Formats: sequence, C-alpha cells, structure tokens
Amino acid sequence: MSKSVPAIRSVKARALVAPIPRPVKTAFAEISAAPLVLIDVETDQGVTGRAYIFAYTTLTLKPLVHLIEEIGRELTDKPVAPYDLMKAMDAKFRLLGWQGLVGMAVSGLDMACWDALGQIADRPMSELLGGSPRPIKAYDSYGVVDPVADEKALRRSLDQGFRGIKIKGGDGDAANDERVVRGVRALLGPDIALMIDFNQSLDPAEATRRIARLAPYDLHWIEEPVPQENLSGHAKVRETSPTPIQAGENWWFPRGFAEAIAAGASDFIMPDLMKVGGVTGWLQVAGQADAASIPMSSHLFAEASAHMLAVTPTAHWLEFLDFAGAILAKPAEIVDGAVTARGPGLGIEWNESAVAKYLVT
Ligand SMILES: [Mg+2]
Repeated sequence: MSKSVPAIRSVKARALVAPIPRPVKTAFAEISAAPLVLIDVETDQGVTGRAYIFAYTTLTLKPLVHLIEEIGRELTDKPVAPYDLMKAMDAKFRLLGWQGLVGMAVSGLDMACWDALGQIADRPMSELLGGSPRPIKAYDSYGVVDPVADEKALRRSLDQGFRGIKIKGGDGDAANDERVVRGVRALLGPDIALMIDFNQSLDPAEATRRIARLAPYDLHWIEEPVPQENLSGHAKVRETSPTPIQAGENWWFPRGFAEAIAAGASDFIMPDLMKVGGVTGWLQVAGQADAASIPMSSHLFAEASAHMLAVTPTAHWLEFLDFAGAILAKPAEIVDGAVTARGPGLGIEWNESAVAKYLVT
C-alpha cells in the first residue's frame, strides 16, 4: 500500500519570553528569561510539526519570526522531506551565507519537519531514526555560581540524581575561578563530573594559564576557552591542556564541525541543534564524531537532544538547562540523573495557556 508523501500546508512562528528556573550568568551577560521562537509546521496529514529555537536576545525575536514565516511561505505545498529541504536551503542561501539568523531559522524548520514525520508515523524521533529512546546521562548546567550562596541549589542537583555539574568561569580573574572551582569541587566530592565553561572569554595565553591553575580540581572538561571561530587558538590551548577541551555550540552546520575537527580544535564536541542544521545536520555531525572517535554532547534543547543522543554512536552528556519547561506540556524530566526522550516525534507539545501568557506581540 503506498501512502502519499506528506506536504507542508503552512508555517507559523510565535515569539515569547519564558521564565526560567534560575538566571544564567556568563562571562558576558546574565540571561534572566528565555526569548524563544515557537515553530509550527502544519501538514496536509492532520498533524503539526513543532520545534522551538532560542533567540539569545529579545532583539532577534521579531526578525526570526518574520524570517521563519517568509521561508515557510516558500515551503508551502513542498513535501515534508527534511534532507531535500536542507539541500534546497543550502543552495538558496549559498551566496548570502547562512551563519546567524538564517541558520537558526533553517535549523528550526528542519526540526519541526522531522517532528511532523515522527508524529505521522506515531513514533518517537529516536525510533524513526532507527534507534530507541534510552536514558541519556545529563549534567545540570549552571551559570556563574558562588560555592556558598549556591550551596543549597547545588545540593538539590545532587539530590535529583545529577552526576555532572557545569559552571561558568571567566567572569572575574584567575584567582576567582580557582576559588569557585575549589569550593564547588569540595562541595560535590570527587565522584561528580565538574565542567567549567568560559564562554569564549579568554585569549589562548590566558586560557592556558588558567587551565593549568585549575588542574588540581579534576575538571571533566574546559568549554569554549577562547572565541569559537578561533580554531587554531582552541588547538593551541588544547596542546598543553591537562583537561579535555569541549566546544561546538557555536559551530555552524556539519561543515563547521569538519573544519573544527580538521583543526584539532577540541577533544569533545557539543553541537547545538539550532546551529548545526537541526536533526539533519546533527546526524551528519554524529557520523563525523564517530569516525574521529570524539565524544559528543548536546547544547540546550533537552527534549530533542535526548532523541538525537540516543542515535549518536559517541553519545556523551546531555546538557540540562531548562529554557522551555515553562511553555511545554511535557518538559524533559530528570530520572536518576538522566533524560529519556519521549515521542511521538520530538515529543514537543505546547502548553497553550502558558504560551499565551508569555507571548510577545
Ligand atoms: Mg557553553
């Protein structure tokens, strides 16, 4: 029996600013709420594919809504065929270049199209891709912390079962980084993975100096020590680092990862579904990571990433940073320190009354 290929009927995007459980302070700024764009891809099969993207700032919300709906208009009546759509988008934006808002829009549309296919098949995404949902170990992702002021929260993370904690650094001097890492390590004990994220705030020489100073505290990884586009700088830092280097949340599409891996920029990689080209891009990077034996983690988007890590040969850690929980009907849940993906599709369902509350018009 042959079924007709599902087609896209319309694309809708909505902007909102969702509350988050705790603010995330980085070396550069503090995120106190999550500017999100919700994407709905309506199909002719009675299902609507859904995905959300994180706009980083409210300044990009309206341009993203506009861009997604404009691209969506061109997709009307096209088959829900994410691989083909990605190839078409690559060609369409080749001369413009698609790093930035266009890449975020394209990646979000890709995720929503895959979600529609999962819903039509009535199967979780990880199953549709040939695997099955399984518990993916997660770390609790903090901003800048203070070992005294944040002791209660950190202990609560351990009580929830998290076996990994990530904190931010680089907001002060090297002595401050050491004070915080020493305090947090003492609080967590030796058996919890502790990661530090510098959010691109250092230069290679300073990064090398700070990483050496943090060596006694058995850090699990050092994240984005230098600006993300400085691949040779990452490689230079990595050369002498006693701790593995992690990066990838700001590398664009599979080609970006190919360049970074060729440059020897990091020991671990952590693509962001919204910058890597959605589900389609993620799969291509997972192949690269497997071939190069590079452990691969996720960035944000816990619900969708739990599906993707279930079909990632070198799956490492899932980042748990709850930016969308307030507007999802079924937010990702931590059980024994792990997240198990839910379907159908990416398992993303809007809590419409919450969406209405936080909508930006
Ligand atoms: Mg990071």
